[in-house]
Amino acid sequence: MEALKEAIRREGVGIGRDVVKLDSFLNHRIDVALSTEMGRALYEAFKEDQVDCILTVEASGIPVAITAAQAFGNIPVVFAKKGDNINVGPDVYSAEVYSFTKRATTSINVSRQYLREGMRVLLVDDFLANGEAMRGLMSILLQARCQLVGVGVCVEKGFQPGGNMLRQSGVKVVSLAIVDAIQDGKIILRDD
Ligand code: 5GP
Repeated sequence: MEALKEAIRREGVGIGRDVVKLDSFLNHRIDVALSTEMGRALYEAFKEDQVDCILTVEASGIPVAITAAQAFGNIPVVFAKKGDNINVGPDVYSAEVYSFTKRATTSINVSRQYLREGMRVLLVDDFLANGEAMRGLMSILLQARCQLVGVGVCVEKGFQPGGNMLRQSGVKVVSLAIVDAIQDGKIILRDD
């Protein structure tokens, strides 16, 4: 998606060899207009797939999950909560996820009442790197007997294996921008 790629070129910062920092519009401050455009782009990609609900994980997946849900006509958004959270209660679907950015494993939890058997669910997130977050969300869908429609992310890091592993296992993966490398702090985008 050109507007996202432009924002990455203009404001993205590469850290080390594998971290993409997009705090000015995606991970700290939110560019609402860009988020709306990204949500529409995900809708365009999945509009024929009968999506009932969008599932993401807190925190940075939530804005684009919401704008995508609006484009689908205000379908529900559920976000998995991280950590042992007494607010969620004991009646949860749960998975362990290794966080690439935090270098630690946390549990993600979704209240059972928000995922009904047979629901067709689109998974959305800000980044796709090693695919750990998506594996955790897919485990939750399996526990809930929901159907996975596909995976939509803002940025896929093409030099990490998550996207291709999902595609090889038959999952429809749509990435609005793909980062192929970070070289001396510069972010190299696919097709640039
Ligand atoms: P994965 O689980 O696919 O390894 O990593 C995806 C998750 O880690 C996303 O939820 C995202 O929040 C975070 N993440 C992974 N790589 C990056 C990155 O380069 N920059 C930022 N800001 N977040 C990342």
